[in-house]
Amino acid sequence: MKIEIITTGDEIMSGVTLDTNFHWAAEKLMSLGFDLRFHTSVGDDEEAIIEALRTAKRRSQAVIVSGGLGPTPDDLTAEVASRFFGIPLELNDDALQMIEERFKEQGRKLLEINKKQAYMPKGSQILKNFWGTAPGFQCEKDSVVFFFLPGVPKEFKAMLEEYVIPELDKRTLGRNKFKSRMVKTSGLRESEVAERLKGIEREGVKIGYRPNFPEIHIRVSGYGDTEEKAEKMVSEVIEDIVFRLGEYVFSTEGETLEEVVGKLLSRNRLTLALAESCTGGLVAHRVTNVSGSSNYFERGIVSYSNESKVEVLGVPKELIESFGAVSKEVVEAMAEGVRKLAKADIGVSISGIAGPTGGTPTKPVGTVFIGISHEKKGTSSQRFQFKGTREEIKLIASEVVLDRIRKFVLNNV
Ligand code: AMP
Ligand code: MG
Repeated sequence: MKIEIITTGDEIMSGVTLDTNFHWAAEKLMSLGFDLRFHTSVGDDEEAIIEALRTAKRRSQAVIVSGGLGPTPDDLTAEVASRFFGIPLELNDDALQMIEERFKEQGRKLLEINKKQAYMPKGSQILKNFWGTAPGFQCEKDSVVFFFLPGVPKEFKAMLEEYVIPELDKRTLGRNKFKSRMVKTSGLRESEVAERLKGIEREGVKIGYRPNFPEIHIRVSGYGDTEEKAEKMVSEVIEDIVFRLGEYVFSTEGETLEEVVGKLLSRNRLTLALAESCTGGLVAHRVTNVSGSSNYFERGIVSYSNESKVEVLGVPKELIESFGAVSKEVVEAMAEGVRKLAKADIGVSISGIAGPTGGTPTKPVGTVFIGISHEKKGTSSQRFQFKGTREEIKLIASEVVLDRIRKFVLNNV
């Protein structure tokens, strides 16, 4: 069953609003094994919407339309659908009642224009909206099913899950079962990953590369006549991927790098303290994106000036004078300093030149030192040379810091 998504709205067409409804629905449908074939976006324009519906009806068996169900004159979808199907609009009593209840709940006064949202092509099935005011509707023409959903992302998502997916499931009974998992890697380029995975493809398994700077994600999807078979094929291929990529793989379950690091620290009852210079707190931000991070994250210090490295972290002034703030010596003193200050198990530091200014011949833009300190394992550091814009260098530096922590825990504890 070929599925098509049509997103409508001038805000989408003009680039003002990102088409996150499509983005989310596509990922959702794909991960469930549905055959999403086409995506069209149109503005709030009657002719364009009709044209999109006509094209979709010709080539797909299920069409999901987002947007244009609101009360304002630029919300045209119901009228356009009525014209397209050749079925007049009719006041849907259930829809009206629902809208009245929503307004009462919120203590708002129902305006005449709000009643507009209760009109839908005669005979269509109402899709009640418990998450907002605009009801959606479903109708069928020549064996093609159409779902009309509101554009507000929260409502669109909820209604897709509540109505569309179960209906699509029902209509595709007996289809091949589908399983999909996401493998995530850090430290390799897309071409390097592809080179190592050469020849890994096999019947019934699809491998998709999803570069997600600076990581490469690999979506592994398997089809089979039973769920178990699909699952088994996916697992086998993932095992092979892990064998070939080794430590570059940080998750086979789609977790973020910071989640993986958090789990490793938790499991080993280790606490972490950070001293960040060039990343300006980005590593701490990522670490604290994980719920429960207070169990292992003790503190993060953004130590940007030389003075703060001396005053807060206890880096000897002479080290900075002799070697510079971006150096092996200083970054190691920072790591040890923050570890002791926080009484944490692991202290990690980062100092570098994010650019575009500030580079020198011996320390060009992108030079980054990362230090790591542990009471028993001692203190060490590594020098890296990154390329890119300031934002890219900060992001990749934060990535490498997290990956260093991951590998340190894996290999030393
Ligand atoms: P509508 O149902 O067309 O009135 O849309 C209501 C609001 O939802 C719009 O003003 C947008 O902010 C948002 N919206 C509509 N379509 C999308 C979409 N495809 N992706 C993300 N947001 C959207
Ligand atoms: Mg709109």
